[in-house]
Amino acid sequence: MKLKENMRTFVTHLEGAIDGATLNAQELQTMSSERPLWTRYDLDSVRKSLTKESLTKRECTMWRYRELLPPSGDDEIVTLGEGMTPIYNCPRLADHFGLKNVSIKDDSQLPTGSFKSRGMAMALTMAKKFGVKRVAVPTCGNAGGAAAAYAARAGIEAYIFMPDDTPKINQYECNLFGAKLFLVNGLISDCGKIVRDGKEPMGWFDLSTLKEPYRLEGKKTMGLELAEQMNWTLPDVIIYPTGGGTGLIGMWKAFHELIELGWIDPDRLPRMVSAQSTGCCPIVRAFEAHEKFAKPFEDANTMASGIRVPVAVGDFMILDAIYSSNGTAVAAEEDRFPAWMRLVARLEGVGMCPEATAGIGALEQLSKSGWIKPDERVLLFNTGAAQKYPHIEPRDPARVNKDKPIDWGFIESQSV
Ligand SMILES: *Cc1c(COP(=O)(O)O)cnc(C)c1O
Repeated sequence: MKLKENMRTFVTHLEGAIDGATLNAQELQTMSSERPLWTRYDLDSVRKSLTKESLTKRECTMWRYRELLPPSGDDEIVTLGEGMTPIYNCPRLADHFGLKNVSIKDDSQLPTGSFKSRGMAMALTMAKKFGVKRVAVPTCGNAGGAAAAYAARAGIEAYIFMPDDTPKINQYECNLFGAKLFLVNGLISDCGKIVRDGKEPMGWFDLSTLKEPYRLEGKKTMGLELAEQMNWTLPDVIIYPTGGGTGLIGMWKAFHELIELGWIDPDRLPRMVSAQSTGCCPIVRAFEAHEKFAKPFEDANTMASGIRVPVAVGDFMILDAIYSSNGTAVAAEEDRFPAWMRLVARLEGVGMCPEATAGIGALEQLSKSGWIKPDERVLLFNTGAAQKYPHIEPRDPARVNKDKPIDWGFIESQSV
């Protein structure tokens, strides 16, 4: 698929997030001073060529924001139709926490069942544009499945490294999509080192979170979408489960680009809340200590595998989004994740992944403490499908023998 013939890109350059260095966007870049890059655009020109009204006629995918995305019109897009996920109003969930206005943006509906597809669609599109033949990615789970699917779609070879206790279903999808999968006796940081060390001998391009600039631009579309879906009036609070942090950083970037376009009110930005697990909460600790960077989290352990990230290269970018939005960071109690999954599923019919239920823990703590006021508008993200986590509290259903008379009392007595 092409975006639009001959549409130029509005990207001007890439910028080092830590050192402000200017890098050429016409070449494939990775990092600057070992830290992530921002993709910068000529927003004055975007303002002249794009209107809110013209957007409404475009296709319902994240590519509708093409002027604010890296590829040019001539580049071939690697896509599975990702983006424009629904936002549900959740009155029973709101009521449960004494609030009036809680909604969920449901990214579990994206290809491979998690929001990782936004970033991978963008990263593989750009990798393909720059002629990359082979990519590698360290993953806690969902990034692997998404990388494998989009690499297949792009005709690019993928090598994936994940901790050996990563859920089977994430291993399965990597195999299914034809990636070369390796289990590592360690954490994602150990997998990251293997990918780094393999760059020279294997000649692959490193797709690690924030070690190339474009996954972030894909994640940014969450912020663009929710702004458009909420008619360019943002919620008061956005709660986001944080691992590597691209979601939070990407949305914050999106809002600033929309301010530059004059499309949203700069005085009504949401307070950004980072939700983590008590089993792995480096960002929460750094926030509580008012630090610019986060210290590595020792012995990280959580069933919410996607946020088991003890070290994030973009830690200072996550913290900056929290500080400058007057947000906060909350650690949700690890052993309550399954109960929160059931709560959201039963109250609202939304199958929420354990990562996102860290946001339910944050909602509980922040509504109790009064940090979130009853009538404030709160938006939570469901970053992945609950169906990818059948290993969390697996349960055998009761059985019925078709060849015997049915015992209706037994049927009725089953607990849920
Ligand atoms: C990766 C992942 C996260 C964390 O996202 P980041 O942008 O890396 O912070 C949250 N939820 C799920 C389901 C994930 O797979």
